[in-house]
Amino acid sequence: MAFTVEVERADRVPARPASVVGVDVGVSHLAVLSTGELVPNPRHLEAAQACLRRLGRALARKQGPDPRTKQQPSKRWRRAAARLGRAHARVGNQRRDGLHKLTTRLAAEHGTIVVEDLNVAGMFANRRLARRIADAGFGQIRRQLAYKTVWHGGRLVVADRWYPSSKTCSACGAVRAKLALAERIYTCTSCGLTLDRDVNAARNLAALAANAAEVRSAGSGPVAGRGANHKTRTRGQEATKRQPGTTATAAGKTGTAAPQGAAAA
Ligand SMILES: [Zn+2]
Repeated sequence: MAFTVEVERADRVPARPASVVGVDVGVSHLAVLSTGELVPNPRHLEAAQACLRRLGRALARKQGPDPRTKQQPSKRWRRAAARLGRAHARVGNQRRDGLHKLTTRLAAEHGTIVVEDLNVAGMFANRRLARRIADAGFGQIRRQLAYKTVWHGGRLVVADRWYPSSKTCSACGAVRAKLALAERIYTCTSCGLTLDRDVNAARNLAALAANAAEVRSAGSGPVAGRGANHKTRTRGQEATKRQPGTTATAAGKTGTAAPQGAAAA
């Protein structure tokens, strides 16, 4: 169900080593934490993006270079292109800044961080969401958390991408068959829980940490109950993947997604 990116204990230790936080990477927010905290997108990002679109249109109206006629770009075009380039850099900086602040804070504070293994490639098939997702920097959050937990001596747990973190009730464990994207509040028909959809998902992620710890403590030997392991050792990191319903005999058959792999998408 989850695989762990376990690290050698660094000299540093997170402020709260026993603390577990689930991070639901969002679209309307940078992230939602299992603590209930909504981390907003960087301020001014939307405004900067609007500026970007405006400058792009302005550039399109100017006389640009034409390789066929060897037409040189006009002075106005050059100035507009420079403005657009600066605006691009600004948006990129704001986004990176927001992500780094978040991941640094999480890694410094919590002993265990649980994130989803998002199918970023699949999500990009949805064009309308694509830009916003790219902006939110799903892959970047994962990648940053992977190395920052190493620095801080913490642990990053990556939930299996099939784990239904949104559809599962964080109170009673009941799983809903369907949950429309428009439903922002999770309501459980079994126990009556009513909770922000993303907070519910983040809490489910946090709850996964207990299972991941189990896999870890079992070492490389056969694991009691469920828990097939596929291990990869890369420079002090150990990735252990657990899949639902598999047994120890299925070892080697499980996924090989390195934590950095999906982030590259
Ligand atoms: Zn429930």
